[in-house]
Amino acid sequence: MRTSSLLSIAVLFASSAWAQSPAAPGRLSVRWEELTAADFRDAITRAQGTCLLPFGIMEKHGPHLPLGNDLLNVRHVSLDAAQQEYAVVFPEYYFGQIFEAKHEPGTVAYSRGLQLQMLQETTDEMARNGCKRIIIVNGHGGNNSLLPYFAQTQLETPHDYVVYVQGLARSGPGEPKHRSNPATDMHAGESETSMSMIARPDLVRLDRASQESGADQGRVKLPDGLYTGIWWYARFPNHYAGEGAVASRELGEFEVKTWINAVVQSIRAVKADQESLRLQNEFYERSKHPLGTPK
Ligand SMILES: [Zn+2]
Repeated sequence: MRTSSLLSIAVLFASSAWAQSPAAPGRLSVRWEELTAADFRDAITRAQGTCLLPFGIMEKHGPHLPLGNDLLNVRHVSLDAAQQEYAVVFPEYYFGQIFEAKHEPGTVAYSRGLQLQMLQETTDEMARNGCKRIIIVNGHGGNNSLLPYFAQTQLETPHDYVVYVQGLARSGPGEPKHRSNPATDMHAGESETSMSMIARPDLVRLDRASQESGADQGRVKLPDGLYTGIWWYARFPNHYAGEGAVASRELGEFEVKTWINAVVQSIRAVKADQESLRLQNEFYERSKHPLGTPK
């Protein structure tokens, strides 16, 4: 009894110390699912309400990478970044846009309406639990239109939290020279395979990377700026774009480091952002009576 009440006093002191100094990493897990309910409260305080939602997918990744490649990579990056700059990381999430791979085995493609509803209810639930600054870390190119649309449509109705979207950020200054054409290195190619060689080397079957072609078949010719949904299948029907076989750990290390740094910078920027929520609230208020908005 005595020991346990001393212990709870110690825990109390420790948790208020964490709340004041965001340093002292390692004591609280960054993983939502690993925290106890009481630790979760401390974690949200320490994170200043900042949470990451790493967003992956289940889809074919050429002949040589696992179906959950994007999920595995984006979680590798997000968990490392959150350990450097504390944030709470939401569990595995892969309910994104992937209709273009429905013809390949292992693809999980939820309907359009469910993708948006699932994401809205997820961020609503995160916010209800104190995540007032939510960074969706996108690991899947097929979400590149979905996520800005989702963030933009947060203006539809009032929310007491802000959604930010952090995209893929694998390249930057000082990048090792690529061995394949970067213009068509888009899916399970040199770049992505290199990254997987760092995040989950045990799952990369580099010897199989040439079993299929990742070449651009260019079967539909349209002017720039004219979009159609079948564009991807028209170019890359094997759901493979690039040359995974020329991947290297050297490039992968650079990419992982670059992306982690980008996420760390985003977490810091989001913690410092006092304006977005204030302006959202002002906007929601004014949008109730637009004729009263000052000229
Ligand atoms: Zn991918």
